[in-house]
Amino acid sequence: MIQDILPRRFYNEFEVHTVTEDDVVLAYDGKLAYMNLSMHGIILPVYRELKNEVEKEALTYAFRIDETRYFIYEGSRHLEEQNGFSYIPWSEYREYGPMHELLATTVGAQLSEWYASHKYCGCCGENMVKSEKERAMCYPSCKKTVYPTISPSVIVGITNKDELLLTKYANAPYKLYALVAGYSEIGESIEETARREVMEEVGLSVKNLRYYKSQPWPISSAMLFGFFAEVDEDPTITLQEEELKEGTWFKREDIPETTSTISLTNEMIEYFRNHPEQFEQ
Ligand SMILES: [Zn+2]
Repeated sequence: MIQDILPRRFYNEFEVHTVTEDDVVLAYDGKLAYMNLSMHGIILPVYRELKNEVEKEALTYAFRIDETRYFIYEGSRHLEEQNGFSYIPWSEYREYGPMHELLATTVGAQLSEWYASHKYCGCCGENMVKSEKERAMCYPSCKKTVYPTISPSVIVGITNKDELLLTKYANAPYKLYALVAGYSEIGESIEETARREVMEEVGLSVKNLRYYKSQPWPISSAMLFGFFAEVDEDPTITLQEEELKEGTWFKREDIPETTSTISLTNEMIEYFRNHPEQFEQ
């Protein structure tokens, strides 16, 4: 999955640093990320290469992976296309490695979007000041502090003995099979989110909800909680057609190949395929 970068390690502790020559620069134009993308994968620029373009004061330290430090560029300049570097959409770079650079690029995108959308206080309209103590925005006049937005959401592998329910989105750019998924709503637990999303999207009641694993999904500022659940009696699917164009029960041996290694969804599909002993027969 996108967060699995061993033997490398991701250090997200809040620190304040000034950029140096070999530090990586993460620059974005909305959801487009500045990189050199080739058959060899993602190459990110370092400060030395962009010195004449980016202002030092517009670079904010974000995190490090092992000893490599990453800075977010918040200046207003649109960087030149040069030496193979350009702004690339997520849909194009999402299946490229190395995994730690994919993780860095997407976590950077999340932070960059958060910085860009919190320049002013939502209560009093004052300018934001970055906290020097923690990863937060402070609004001095009304004393409000705002932290990075992380939205909890669920992915649910719904099973019926040796079958798994796979879905396809109606309108999303992602065209392959997925599992039922959705964001948590106000006033509900994550388990209630899972049951509600299953009922809304495919019209099924489920029982024996089992937590599997979680995954950060920085490109949509989400934290995904993966569950498996068994259908409770009637397996007849009623699709929510605004969201889904397909919902199909697949027998274990007929489940289509997954090709991606970055998502919890695909790991869960493979887990169901490869661990029949973990599911009711
Ligand atoms: Zn305020």
